[in-house]
Amino acid sequence: MGRDYQLLDAGSGAVTRAFTFFAFVLAAALSLATIFAVLVARFGQIPADSHEFISVTVLIATCVAAPMGAMAAQNQYRVDQYNSTLHAMASTDPLTGLLNRRSFEKLAHEEIARMQRTQTNASIALFDLDHFKQFNDMHGHAFGDRVLTEIASISHSELRGPFDRLGRWGGEEFVILMSNLTPEQAEAVCERLRRRIERATMTYKDRTALVTASFGVAPLRADRGLAQALEEADEMLYQAKNTGRNKVVCARKLRSVA
Ligand code: GH3
Ligand code: MG
Ligand code: MG
Repeated sequence: MGRDYQLLDAGSGAVTRAFTFFAFVLAAALSLATIFAVLVARFGQIPADSHEFISVTVLIATCVAAPMGAMAAQNQYRVDQYNSTLHAMASTDPLTGLLNRRSFEKLAHEEIARMQRTQTNASIALFDLDHFKQFNDMHGHAFGDRVLTEIASISHSELRGPFDRLGRWGGEEFVILMSNLTPEQAEAVCERLRRRIERATMTYKDRTALVTASFGVAPLRADRGLAQALEEADEMLYQAKNTGRNKVVCARKLRSVA
């Protein structure tokens, strides 16, 4: 399944935070107990053995603070898990598990900022399933949904996990940001993906079917921003649709030919 691979797993961070929280509560309780014991031993009714008095006070404080700290840490862990679940729900598309449009745009803007620092370029691709309305009409919406998750899974496996960002742009349209790739290299990646989609047999219950997709590729440059790259990729996608579908059209190539 193409469950989102772009989101950070907050799990290990939450464990570390819970342990830190526990240690903090314990240390605070022990410090207070020690200060209390020293003050009583120094200014209060001085017990016969002040060392023993301090040790017993610290031991009692530990017995009280340890379970309290553990409970507080457990609570902190739950809150962190809950927050990370909320974050995942807000950032991903529920059907495919891919980045939704909003989180894709956020990551793309972060990538553009990185590109400005490192003076590198990237490429954007938009791809859209061909005649998908007809597919739904013929095979049913549930099979259509299965196809969308399968496409997400195929795309995920074809791309370079940490370097490429994959999102569901809407409906049966997907978006890819490919870091450090020229449009020509991105075009080759999309061509490979296009062929894999074309060959993949989609199955749902006892039915099988084939689907194809059309791609538009455009350069993403730090100096011209995401919106322009997307607009150009969309124009290329439009051309792919109007010139037979099931193909990849790349912006730079068209410009140099024109
Ligand atoms: P084209 O080749 O020009 O892209 O034709 P198309 O039929 O794919 O395009 P159109 O925009 O006419 O229809 C898109 C279809 O995608 C219609 C809609 O039912 C389907 N679709 C969009 N989102 C979903 C979804 O989440 N699940 C399913 N099963 N279908 C969806
Ligand atoms: Mg379509
Ligand atoms: Mg569409």
